[in-house]
Amino acid sequence: MGMKAKELVRRAGVDVDALIQELNSAYCDEWLAYYQYWIGARVAEGKMAHLLAEELAEHAGEELEHAEKLAKRIIELGGTPSISPELWLKESTCGFLAPKDPEAMVLLKQNIQGERCAIEVYQKLLDRVAGKDHVTEHLVREILEDELEHEQDLEDLQGSCAVDKKMCMK
Ligand code: FE
Ligand code: FE
Ligand code: MG
Repeated sequence: MGMKAKELVRRAGVDVDALIQELNSAYCDEWLAYYQYWIGARVAEGKMAHLLAEELAEHAGEELEHAEKLAKRIIELGGTPSISPELWLKESTCGFLAPKDPEAMVLLKQNIQGERCAIEVYQKLLDRVAGKDHVTEHLVREILEDELEHEQDLEDLQGSCAVDKKMCMK
């Protein structure tokens, strides 16, 4: 823990325990998002599978980076990141959408849903710390920017399917 780190946040009028809890929930979301992308990239089927798998694999790596950044900040503030996968589902906000139907278009839809949930999570976190806890604010803004980009990347893929259905359908 960083004693000063915690003190600064408290002094700025932020409830540190509530913040840690919210960061932890986002941390759980990130692990689930990481795995959702990782496994999606491998099981994807259909004409668009190759294209989609590349994007999903890239996003998986970025979700893992988000988990790393969140863990670092949680520890700095005196908290403990959820140390067991059992906790990920329990404490997550966005949950996990298993790729039961590996059709690329179905995976796309699921992952867009996940990104939209993540965007709401980080917007809410940003509102909690904005103008007060500058370090967390910076971190959350960086992650939010990535999530917005993820949503757009996936929407673009969906859009290219709307233009040329033959390209994407089985
Ligand atoms: Fe993320
Ligand atoms: Fe994302
Ligand atoms: Mg991308």
